[in-house]
Amino acid sequence: MIKENVTALRKTLTQKGKQKKEEITLIAVSKTVDAEKVLEAMAAGQRIFGENRVQELLKKQENLSAYPDISWHLIGHLQTNKVKQVIGKVDLIHSLDRLSLADEIEKQAIKHHISVPCLIQVNMGEEESKFGIAKEEIFEMVSALSKYPHIAVKGLMTVAPYASNPEEIRWVFREMKGLFEKLKMNPYQNISMEFLSMGMSNDYEIAIQEGANMVRIGTGIFGERNYHQ
Ligand SMILES: *Cc1c(COP(=O)(O)O)cnc(C)c1O
Repeated sequence: MIKENVTALRKTLTQKGKQKKEEITLIAVSKTVDAEKVLEAMAAGQRIFGENRVQELLKKQENLSAYPDISWHLIGHLQTNKVKQVIGKVDLIHSLDRLSLADEIEKQAIKHHISVPCLIQVNMGEEESKFGIAKEEIFEMVSALSKYPHIAVKGLMTVAPYASNPEEIRWVFREMKGLFEKLKMNPYQNISMEFLSMGMSNDYEIAIQEGANMVRIGTGIFGERNYHQ
């Protein structure tokens, strides 16, 4: 079913992208899923995979080292002491949410002579349980991040609050898009607003309607996760 799920999703995203005249990127969220299943998704053309834990990401990269065309994204919370383990190993970090983390990324990036593409994570729903900066802090954050020459901010990311009816959280995606467009109009060094990463299995359709151009889908591709295997 994985292959069929990916094919159907990619087709839908291509169509929606055409309507909006921009590409919509699918991140297949492979957390808790084994390498074999990643290969099934690859058979349907998928190349970008998202992981939320550093340990699991590194292990999966190793298991799949025969497939260098996979692009790995880190979508989960990043502890400062884990930065040196992932630096240079992921194509995009979706979870830049504090300057102390930026300090460490900058430091490691200098060591490796690279620039690190990141998205700023915003906690739009103001949930205590979620990571991300408050929307009121975004302009200050962006202006601070523009002073880190080895961090390339490429856009924004959010995890919307869970809602059994995703219509209830449409406002989250709409406000994110508003912020994204506002930031686009303000030129800052090292900051570009290319990617708006929002929308998961339960709410990606609404996220896209409101302007997401990057969606992160796990369950909708791989089925329900089993955290205890
Ligand atoms: C797990 C996860 C997803 C995917 O969630 P699904 O509901 O399975 O599609 C997306 N984004 C983040 C940050 C996640 O941790």
